[in-house]
Amino acid sequence: MHNVAGPEAHRPGSAGEILQILRDGKARTRRDLAGLTGQARTTVAQRLSVLTDVGLVREAEETAATGGRPSAAFAFDAEGKVVLAIDLGANHATYGVADLHGEILASATDMVRIGDGPKVVMELVLTRLEELLATPGIAERDVLAIGVGLPGPVDQHTGRPTSPPIMPGWDGYDIRTVLADRYCCPVFVDNDANVLALGERAVAWPDVADLMFVKVATGVGAGIISGEHLLHGAQGAAGDLGHVYSKAANDRPCRCGNRGCLESLAGGMSIAARLTERGVPADSPSDIVSLVRAGNLETVLALREAGRALGEVLATCTALFNPRVIVIGGEIVEVGEPLLAGVRESIYSRALPLASRDLRVVVAKSGALGGVIGAARMALDSVFSAQFLDQVLDKEPAEVGLTSA
Ligand SMILES: [Zn+2]
Repeated sequence: MHNVAGPEAHRPGSAGEILQILRDGKARTRRDLAGLTGQARTTVAQRLSVLTDVGLVREAEETAATGGRPSAAFAFDAEGKVVLAIDLGANHATYGVADLHGEILASATDMVRIGDGPKVVMELVLTRLEELLATPGIAERDVLAIGVGLPGPVDQHTGRPTSPPIMPGWDGYDIRTVLADRYCCPVFVDNDANVLALGERAVAWPDVADLMFVKVATGVGAGIISGEHLLHGAQGAAGDLGHVYSKAANDRPCRCGNRGCLESLAGGMSIAARLTERGVPADSPSDIVSLVRAGNLETVLALREAGRALGEVLATCTALFNPRVIVIGGEIVEVGEPLLAGVRESIYSRALPLASRDLRVVVAKSGALGGVIGAARMALDSVFSAQFLDQVLDKEPAEVGLTSA
């Protein structure tokens, strides 16, 4: 259910394509839209009436055509409807309600361990979403879609987590159906690094088409946006950098069972373990943050070492994807300078000048709400994609919360 159709479903001048055009907020006449889609004006009028009926397009103020009668203009109607966004991490759950432009209207966070399993976590999530919707006074039927970020690999066809290493009890869990049954709307699920990449791009780099977001928290993962699209790969495992071989990791054992993984040197848990071995007790990424703030030199050096190893892997990624921006995010970047210095050192000394000349390596700006901003963005882009919308409008709009105005 709710699978996004493949590219073969694309129909030029369809209602979905017209909505894609109008999502930029500009009002356009039938004539404008006929010109942009190459369709007859009567066809455009028909499509507009479908979109007006389901409340996604409204008639805007009239515009005076040059020398002629004023003609009706149509605009995207973002009023009154929302999407829900859920960002689940190893130790937190953040929720948001966003309008149809992706602005967060209300949000909340709970400290909850994902390892407590789906029953415990989802009970809390459903309760919190209900409370959150009540804050801005939004009816459940006005929820158009839900976006979810999970801290593990997600099967893109089913939306289910696939053997997630830090999510015991979640393997194959059908989170999409649980949420869809509750809110009668489509649900889109992806891993947290991908969702964070979308959030960071929306907040800080809207005009950048090629961006990599690297999350350094308990582990290491990345979301890759190439040519404005997220790369998922065949199994949804694209960007899973934590278990790439790193010579600098010196055959350290990794939690995945392998040896010499990048994460065994650069992941927050491994840095903490290494510090403990060296006589600086640390147990989590937040301990690392506190130690750097307290001026602990050993921790600063460990972060720089981690940054250099990460940078070597990112130099290879730079050759593969030629990103414009590499954003380093996750809990550790609250004190990111030593890590970032190490990353830059390796990337700029190893990547080819053509790929690294204009490359920027920066710390994330989207903050604690980056995950929900990205999840909201994913839900909006998915539900308003021409393919998805056309498929829905062919069927039963009420099925996805679109009701006749
Ligand atoms: Zn590993």
